[in-house]
Amino acid sequence: MTVCIPFDNTYAQLAPTFYSRQDPTPVSAPGLLAFNDALAQELGIARSDDTELAQVFGGNRVPDGAAPLAQLYSGHQFGSYNPQLGDGRAVLLGEVIGRDGIRRDIQLKGSGPTPYSRNGDGRAWLGPVLREYVVSEAMHALGIPTTRSLAAVATGDTVWREGGLPGAVLTRVARSHLRVGTFQVFAGRGQDAELKTLTDYAIARHYPEAKGPMGLLRAVRDAQAELIAAWMSVGFIHGVMNTDNSSISGETIDYGPCAFMDVFDVNRVFSSIDRMGRYAYGNQPQIAVWNLAQLATALIQQYEDPSDVVAEATEIVHAMPDLIEAAWLRRFRAKIGLVDAAEGDLELIGDLLQLMSDGQADFTNTFRALQDGTAREQFLDPVAFDSWETRRRVRLEREAGGAGAQAVMAAANPVLIPRNHRMEEMIAAAVAGDFAPFERLMEALSRPFEVHPEFEDLRRPPAQNEIVAATFCG
Ligand code: AMP
Ligand code: MG
Ligand code: MG
Repeated sequence: MTVCIPFDNTYAQLAPTFYSRQDPTPVSAPGLLAFNDALAQELGIARSDDTELAQVFGGNRVPDGAAPLAQLYSGHQFGSYNPQLGDGRAVLLGEVIGRDGIRRDIQLKGSGPTPYSRNGDGRAWLGPVLREYVVSEAMHALGIPTTRSLAAVATGDTVWREGGLPGAVLTRVARSHLRVGTFQVFAGRGQDAELKTLTDYAIARHYPEAKGPMGLLRAVRDAQAELIAAWMSVGFIHGVMNTDNSSISGETIDYGPCAFMDVFDVNRVFSSIDRMGRYAYGNQPQIAVWNLAQLATALIQQYEDPSDVVAEATEIVHAMPDLIEAAWLRRFRAKIGLVDAAEGDLELIGDLLQLMSDGQADFTNTFRALQDGTAREQFLDPVAFDSWETRRRVRLEREAGGAGAQAVMAAANPVLIPRNHRMEEMIAAAVAGDFAPFERLMEALSRPFEVHPEFEDLRRPPAQNEIVAATFCG
């Protein structure tokens, strides 16, 4: 049975200035590793047999209705502008409108070289493919906007990195793959007509209520502010917040050397390429603002006289820190059981985080333990925590809702996150041909707010010899 995908493509209808037509490059021996049945159903893709799915999602057979292309974009990488990037190892097969009425891209990642590959091989190896599969689906289950994973296919080919590694292709689903960098490339080249077209396209697709480029800027700001606060609330570190990895839709995109923290440390960095700590946990809010400023700079190029809108664009960007803080406070209040806003909450939460940092407390487990009254056990010095807990108790009594604290915390504090050492263990097993840890992680992380005795071991922070010091790009 052939794979039937109800494509309805719009990006391919834009002028060829926006992309390069590019078919995926076939692989030697496509083998289906994972397929997301629930997501396929939401997208209206009927289940067919594994061999067929592997052919399509490995890139060997272009399905009917697809119009494969590599998108053009540029971006600031670690603060320096690269005038041309683009999909160097991905092709957009096309778009589908899901059962929820939302249009989504279906993209193969690791599908071979494109005109934007530069020196890259256009491929991905199994490790990063499974990593993105697990983390993106975990983020979704945590309620955080993200690209999704539809399929993972082994290629049967070797990918050369430090040594030879098994190749794989990920099928990624996104509300779109429009990035800050998609706007930057046309602004940078002075292609005003393309910039206008792209602005209209993004508004129609993501923010139909937004008016004009500044309306789009405002909408992206609001979505990004919520997203960053959500990341912070689960200890997520994206790792490569370059403007080409910053989505206009407000979804988490381009999972590379991302990681969740175990012990709380505001300066935590995992990515081996982030030597200066530009994308450290605690820097993420200000980087999001910096990225929005780059979007503003690009968007104003389409005005006949950009100086007309500089004041408005500046006002929009400058309002972002307060919006992030408001979203952050709302989420962290919930994490300690609060719903109402009160003077001093920022300090109360900040003091807990400082205690966690000083006491080498596990971020996820400490917040969850507040519910069962066992949080003090998470700290090197439990006594230091006791006086903070007294302050929280006093503050809780001032809540109008009162008794709702437990439920509020249960919905804000996950039991399970994809811990680094478990991810590494899962990848090592998969490389050796054992996918049981992958399946198990997927199952556990699909219900991250529930306590299940069979997944108790996945709550445990890494032992000293299990700590993952650094994460790598694929
Ligand atoms: P990233 O930081 O992973 O989002 O990628 C930055 C740029 O490098 C994008 O243009 C990617 O398409 C490109 N890229 C990353 N890995 C490869 C690869 N193996 N082959 C070709 N291009 C790549
Ligand atoms: Mg990228
Ligand atoms: Mg101009």
